[in-house]
Amino acid sequence: CGYCISACPYGVIDQRKDDGRAWKCTLCYDRLGAGMTPACAQACPTESIQYGPLDELRERAAERVETLHERGVSEARLYGHDPHDGVGGDGAFFLLLDEPEVYGLPPDPIVTTRDLPAMWKRAGLAALAMTAATVFAFVGGSS
Ligand code: SF4
Repeated sequence: CGYCISACPYGVIDQRKDDGRAWKCTLCYDRLGAGMTPACAQACPTESIQYGPLDELRERAAERVETLHERGVSEARLYGHDPHDGVGGDGAFFLLLDEPEVYGLPPDPIVTTRDLPAMWKRAGLAALAMTAATVFAFVGGSS
């Protein structure tokens, strides 16, 4: 309906026609600081945008998905709600009515830095093995 777009004080949901730039959502930090809800959540007449404690929102969203399934919307699902997913869950999550790809979202997002410790460990072990092999070659070659 566009209420959220016109309510956003930062023009976040809109995109500039001339250069395609968009602005990052600040979650209305100034409003939150004043004890208010984000402008888009307050403006949404259908309460499609909701703000509150994550656990509460997850619970409410899970109930909504269940209702949709009962009504035959079998593809309904939550996206970004799981704190154990590849990105550790998002601060904002979505109720989708179809596969994430339909909305241009990656089906199984993973933060690129998640595997860094394991990668460094493997690289360290490989370096140790190479060092040992080199030392062994020198020591083995001198006798
Ligand atoms: S939370 Fe605030 S800044 Fe973010 S999109 Fe909604 S109105 Fe805009």
